[in-house]
Amino acid sequence: MRKKKCTVLDCRGLVIFASRHIIQVKVEPIAVKRPTILVLGAGYGGLSTVVNLQKSLGTDEAEVILVNKNDYHYESTWLHEAAAGTLSPEQVRYDISRVIKKDKVTFVKAEVRSIDVNGKTVGTTAGDFTYDYLVIALGFEGETFGIPGLDKYALSIANVNAARQIREHIEYQFATWSTEDVKADSRLTIIVGGAGFTGIEFLGELGDRIPKLCEEFDVPADKVKVLCVEAAPMVLPGFDPELVDYAVRQLKSKGIEFSIGTPVVEATPEGVKLKKGEDEFEFIEAGTVVWAAGVRGNRLIEETGIENMRARVKVDKDLRAPGYSDVFIVGDCALMINEEANRPYPPTAQIAMQQGDMCANNIIALMKQQPTSPFVPDLKGSIASLGSSDAIGVAFGKKMTGAKASFMKKMVDNRALYLIGGAPLTIKKGKFDFL
Ligand SMILES: Cc1cc2nc3c(=O)[nH]c(=O)nc-3n(C[C@H](O)[C@H](O)[C@H](O)COP(=O)(O)OP(=O)(O)OC[C@H]3O[C@@H](n4cnc5c(N)ncnc54)[C@H](O)[C@@H]3O)c2cc1C
Repeated sequence: MRKKKCTVLDCRGLVIFASRHIIQVKVEPIAVKRPTILVLGAGYGGLSTVVNLQKSLGTDEAEVILVNKNDYHYESTWLHEAAAGTLSPEQVRYDISRVIKKDKVTFVKAEVRSIDVNGKTVGTTAGDFTYDYLVIALGFEGETFGIPGLDKYALSIANVNAARQIREHIEYQFATWSTEDVKADSRLTIIVGGAGFTGIEFLGELGDRIPKLCEEFDVPADKVKVLCVEAAPMVLPGFDPELVDYAVRQLKSKGIEFSIGTPVVEATPEGVKLKKGEDEFEFIEAGTVVWAAGVRGNRLIEETGIENMRARVKVDKDLRAPGYSDVFIVGDCALMINEEANRPYPPTAQIAMQQGDMCANNIIALMKQQPTSPFVPDLKGSIASLGSSDAIGVAFGKKMTGAKASFMKKMVDNRALYLIGGAPLTIKKGKFDFL
């Protein structure tokens, strides 16, 4: 068991002026504990916090510890590409050591197992850690809403290895179909649950990838079926209807089918059952089911005792957990209400990174006994890709589609790299295939 504790010595000479004599009083060094800032999770929120802390704090001002289950960060916003096989999993991730300053941040590769916000202790596979300030940035998990079978039989674009698993599963189904004597065409059916942001972006990549898979595995294109199923009556809720029409048209032109307003009620090893009417159900056989219909915060939040909704905490304006002045929550584990729309802001990387910046500033403010600042998202827009050269979105108040939107999307992706790792990381991992 490892307990982290750190002290530095603050040596002060006290000089007293007494008439014309200067009396120097020697004071014994005072032991002053540097505050320990413990950051859990190296996704967008956690890494932004750490990168901003290391920019602003000297080595002797605080001990910053970053705990993450892997020694790499992955771009969650690119996972649909790795899952469809249009981008290599290696391109999606980079070593955390590339972006942290080792003299200012201690990185611990470990899985967080428990968070005790009353005892101020975090249990991990590398031992226990105490803290003065805690930042919880443990990200999202897939939400299956209790639909039977989904946890077991559907795949989820949850992290880089889960994305790799989806890619390999689809390739396996194509390879098996082309080698088996009695061909089961349902192997070549891919069901994508959810027509929200993640589902649509994944479908866009599948639209690019399927023709290549057909060529690679000698599969006739008309044997493949890609079906998007959605419980809500619309695609991409919250997006401009004109842009949504464009997206659906483009995806249909790539052979993708939609079943909208038809909730999945069960998943089995053979496929999914859809509710099509009051007492009407349809079972669709499929070799691959990918569930992209909802996210929740990290389950560890639910064990902290902090009030939460599906593991997301309605944080105070300065990003602290209500009732815990030393606990900050950023990214997908935090919930903030957009007061204009009277509903929560969607969980996005854009917001997670901005929260990371603000969280670092607010911790530094507390260390200096200064007031904290409220977090106000600076929303620059939202762009959904529809494959490698097509997209829809609104950026800086302007609607855009096609190559222009796709260019913007890649610039947004590159900007996220730049903000964390500067030019070297952007050059190494960035997207520059603009044609
Ligand atoms: C396919 C897809 C496309 C998306 N596209 C966009 C987009 O275009 N624009 C946008 O703004 N948002 C997009 N999002 C949403 C965005 O990715 C999330 O909002 C964002 O990743 C949240 O950041 P985060 O820092 O909260 O968590 P994450 O990025 O999920 O990071 C959490 C980190 O915590 C680590 N971790 C988790 N549990 C533990 C544990 N127990 N112990 C140790 N470490 C742990 C994880 O390994 C990870 O490194 C997309 C999401 C997906 C899945």
